[in-house]
This record gives sequence, C-alpha cells and structure tokens, in this order.
Amino acid sequence: MYIYLDHNATTPVRPEVADAMGDVLRRIHGNPSSVHAAGAAAKAAVERARECVASLLGVKAAEVLFTGGATEANNTALFGLLRAQSNRRHVVTTTVEHPSVEAPLTQLEREGWRVTRVGVDEDGRVDPDEVGDVLTPDTALVSVIWANNETGSLQPIDEIAAIARERGVLVHSDATQAIGKVPVDLRRVSLNLLSLSAHKFNGPKGVGALIVRGGLRFDPILCGGPQEGRRRGGTENVAGIVGLGLASELAERELSSRMRQYALLRDRLWEGIQAKVPDVRRNGSALHVLPNTLNVEFEGTAGELLLQALDLEGVAVSSGAACASGSIEPSHVLIAMGRSAAAARGSLRLSVGHGVDANQIDRVLALLPDLVERARMAGTQ
Ligand code: PMP
Repeated sequence: MYIYLDHNATTPVRPEVADAMGDVLRRIHGNPSSVHAAGAAAKAAVERARECVASLLGVKAAEVLFTGGATEANNTALFGLLRAQSNRRHVVTTTVEHPSVEAPLTQLEREGWRVTRVGVDEDGRVDPDEVGDVLTPDTALVSVIWANNETGSLQPIDEIAAIARERGVLVHSDATQAIGKVPVDLRRVSLNLLSLSAHKFNGPKGVGALIVRGGLRFDPILCGGPQEGRRRGGTENVAGIVGLGLASELAERELSSRMRQYALLRDRLWEGIQAKVPDVRRNGSALHVLPNTLNVEFEGTAGELLLQALDLEGVAVSSGAACASGSIEPSHVLIAMGRSAAAARGSLRLSVGHGVDANQIDRVLALLPDLVERARMAGTQ
C-alpha cells in the first residue's frame, strides 16, 4: 500500500483536471494572442479559467494574473511592486516565510531596502500588534504568509491586513498553502496582493496566480510580451491555466467537505500517535492550523532517518529539516518558534489530502511505534 502524506509538498492532480488539460492539449492549439479562431478558442479557455480563480477568491477576473506558480507570484509581488515604488523603502515580513518570499526580500535588502522580520510565538503565530508597532511612514508593504507550509499555522491575516490598511500600507500574502484547505475570501480580508499555486490544490505544477487588487501598479518581472495586460510577458500555459481553473472550481465547491474530511484524518493520526508513541510533541497551534497538517517532534530521533524508514514502508512524509548544499539544516520555521536544532531535526510533517483514507492512517499508526523506536536507538549509537 502506497500512502502519500506529503500533500503540502504537492498534491496529486485530480483525474477530471488531468482530463480537462489533456483535452486542451489535444484540441486547443492556438496562441491566445492570435486573432484567428484557433487563437480565440485558446483565449476563451484562459478567460474561463480566470473567472473560476476569481470566483474562488471573491475578486474580479481582471485582478487575476496567471504566473508559473507561487514562486513567480511571490517574486512578482515583491520585486514588481517595490521596484515600482520610488518613495517608500521599508518592508515588514515575518521570520516564518517561504524561501520564495524570504529570498527576494534578502535581495531587496542588498539593493538598499530595509526589511523588518516580525517574530512568532511558540505556536508559530505573529502578533498583529507587533506588526502595527514596526510600521513607519516609510513602510511600502507588509508580506505575511497565510498558512505555513511546514506547521500549517494560520496567521491572523485579517487583523494584520486591517492594521496595515488603516496605516495606508499595502499588504501581500503568500496563500499558497491555504487555498482549498481553509476559506480565502478577499471580500472579507483586505489584501492588495495574494499568491497561489495550482499544484497545492490538486492542479498541475508550474502554474499559479498573483491576485493584484484594484489595478495596483507594479513593474513586470517577465518583460517582452503584451500578455496578461502587459503584466507578464510570455505565451500563456493554456493547458496549465485550464487545470488551475478547474482545480479552483473543485476547491470552491468542495471546501467545507474537504475541511471536515482532512481534519478527521489529521486528528485520527495525532490521537493515534499520542496513544502509541511516547515523547512526542506537536509543533504549531492546534487551533489556528490548516485542517490537513500535522507537524510532530519525535523526541530523540533524526527526522530524516524516520522519513527514510517510512519511505521504505511506502509512506511518504516530509522532515523538519531541509537539505541545503549537502548538509542537513534545521527548519528555520521551527527554530523561529523557539525549538532547538535537535527538536527541529526530530520533527516530521504529515499532511493529508485527496485520496487519503482512515485505513491508510491506521496503517501508518501501526508502523510508527516500531520505526520511531528504531530511529531513537540508531540516534543513541
Ligand atoms: N509558498 C509556499 C507557502 C509554498 O508552500 C510553496 C511550495 N512549496 C511556494 C510558495 C512555491 O510554490 P511553487 O512550487 O508553485 O513555486
């Protein structure tokens, strides 16, 4: 039995999404910029998908800018917006952002921008008042991740957005992990920019969107074509965009049942782990958390050993450490939450999603006690 508990890394493409994309690849070959009928058919498919993404988020279709995924959306939001601003030179973010936000900001720091990184509590959450406290008349943008990819912790994004808006500061959120798992409604949360990626909610890889509200001006980072209202040059990934559109439609339709189903599986897993494995600790908020995500420290283990042992049994999970240039680096997110390097190293992320069922969870629970014990013994030798 192959059990995939790594849905925060990527998700399987839903069969109906794959079918819709295959249909585009077989039947719609035109370039959306061409004026003939084949071009118009491709353009119509792209525009239908744009409506679906807009409907999922409660925005206008014109506010959806298709990108090659969330990394590009985040880079576009940060470089594009900030370089278009000539007067304000300060950005506020957090210590728990995805590298596709952190790395552009580090680059902007080299170019003379000032970046303030607000810390998090032991649950991985930002205090909105702390964000308010560091805003200055020079602050151009606040960028805060909606839901953390490693712990699933949800930020109080509505409060943060309200505080920033009151002070006349623009707000971006990387909502890549939130879409399709919790409500993301931009009629209720006043963001200026939002990033998302299709492959995190059962769409294809390599396509996403940046939501740009209210005609906000920014410099394109991909120049050289009139596509996407001159905001992103390059022929559109028509099949990918259609896949993103259908994944959005499914996410909108199924959100409440997904939330219920994922939470049941995640809670079954956590309750089982607590009952069967000694010395475990949950990383992140149990309340303000994605319904599909569980991050657990198995005290005294090396997470990567446990990950490999699970993999040999056909169970895919993710470790609380990343391999950076050949060495194991503890997760910056867990470190920011006050965990030690050893605790971060002993942590695993288990994330459920489409296709996971209770039998699979029970199989993992049957395997874990023995594998954890062996990983602990290996660590003490
Ligand atoms: N932001 C977050 C929170 C993510 O989890 C990811 C994917 N790991 C990204 C951005 C990057 O998305 P993509 O793979 O579409 O570039």
